[in-house]
Amino acid sequence: MELVKRGFLRACKNHSFLSFELIDDILAPLCANHKTPKPASKEAIRALVAEINDTISDLGQSLVFIKYPIKAAEYLVYAKTDATPDSVANTGLTAEECQYFSKLLDKIASEEDCHIAWNGAYNDIIMQASSKPLKKSRMQELLQKWTQMGYFMEVDERIYLGPRSLVELSFYLSSNHGENIKNCTLCKCLVLWDIRCASCNIQFHRECIQTYLQRRDICPSCGNLWTTPIRRSTG
Ligand SMILES: [Zn+2]
Ligand SMILES: [Zn+2]
Repeated sequence: MELVKRGFLRACKNHSFLSFELIDDILAPLCANHKTPKPASKEAIRALVAEINDTISDLGQSLVFIKYPIKAAEYLVYAKTDATPDSVANTGLTAEECQYFSKLLDKIASEEDCHIAWNGAYNDIIMQASSKPLKKSRMQELLQKWTQMGYFMEVDERIYLGPRSLVELSFYLSSNHGENIKNCTLCKCLVLWDIRCASCNIQFHRECIQTYLQRRDICPSCGNLWTTPIRRSTG
């Protein structure tokens, strides 16, 4: 099992964020190679991830499951626990390129619903006066790389904060963009693009408020009757 865990962690590092389908695609051959039974359920996968986390927390790494409403999916995210926008932009980049990451992250996070039109990633990004301007082709290359790494997500010609940013930079995002980015008061994790109370407009994770409303029928924040439909609209 140890070899399976090591191989799986390596795959998580390479992919940055993984759907359950991808997790299955990785575990199937890995477990077969090491003649170990494959975790058969989501619960078994979560248990495997918890065991891996016990061994990597000292190394400043963690694997975190996150619900991502924009894709109506749950992902497993590989994260460094001490990351900041300056450090995530990766080694091998110039100061200007790292600055571009921070500026783009701030630009998206400062929008109310934390997304921008795709061309906004190349226009109106104000860099420090002393820095050399980046070519648009280089910006596109970087954005593509950071999207593959899960820091941003492109959907319908818009760019959203990606699952890895939400996990790895959650402290930075909620402390620097607290007006748009808040933690769900029920589970204390960051919540975006999810369900809102019709009275006070505060946002919760759908699953969190659903569980809460099994016992009560009021908003935990404002105390008014909860009226927002819980089911995801299919339209
Ligand atoms: Zn929650
Ligand atoms: Zn409310």
